[in-house]
Amino acid sequence: MNVELSRQISELRESVARLHGELTRYGLVAWTAGNVSARVPGHDLMVIKPSGVDYDDLSADNMVLCDLDGMPVEGELSPSSDTAAHAYVYRAMPEVGGVVHTHSTYATAWAARGESIPCHLTAQADEFGGEIPVGPFALIGGDDIGKGIVSTLTGHRSPAVLMRNHGVFTIGRTARAAVKAAVMCEDVARTAHLTRALGQPVPMAQADIDALYDRYQNVYGQRSSPPANS
Ligand SMILES: [Zn+2]
Repeated sequence: MNVELSRQISELRESVARLHGELTRYGLVAWTAGNVSARVPGHDLMVIKPSGVDYDDLSADNMVLCDLDGMPVEGELSPSSDTAAHAYVYRAMPEVGGVVHTHSTYATAWAARGESIPCHLTAQADEFGGEIPVGPFALIGGDDIGKGIVSTLTGHRSPAVLMRNHGVFTIGRTARAAVKAAVMCEDVARTAHLTRALGQPVPMAQADIDALYDRYQNVYGQRSSPPANS
């Protein structure tokens, strides 16, 4: 392995390990559920969480390097049981650099009912560009979950999909962007739930949703940082 590639991998090990701290900080995961991965840019490789390790014990050293068939190529631990789904997304969606999976409570409650989250909030229009869609039911193991994620999100503005009876998968240009989408998805799902409980939400005009999405994706944030990391 050349020096540049091993430097890239060790940086990704650091950042993927650190990003798992955001899942616990925002209350998106219980026990060892949930996982973050990052593609190694320009290589058929990804860095992902090991399976069944406590969040407190995650470190750069125990992240697992896998190929894009989900097979470990470096590291002593087994990769996350969701590795096949992450790998499928990277194979099918070349623009994706990060994938996150959680069973965050409110978003997963929508997934359990098989209902997409309609867009009644400016924050949802900003990040998701409209509804957060529901993906098909799929059993873990094999490519079914990955296929469901890709078929739902291809051509969709939303970087998040509610996999039916399961939970949330998010994608991003970077792992950090995918983590942000997972945090925002739960935030929006919680507010949407409370809105339903209180009564009927007030609809937003599609033109307003489009304008918010366009502004947030193209203008919002500091000029020096790319929108995916805003
Ligand atoms: Zn899961």
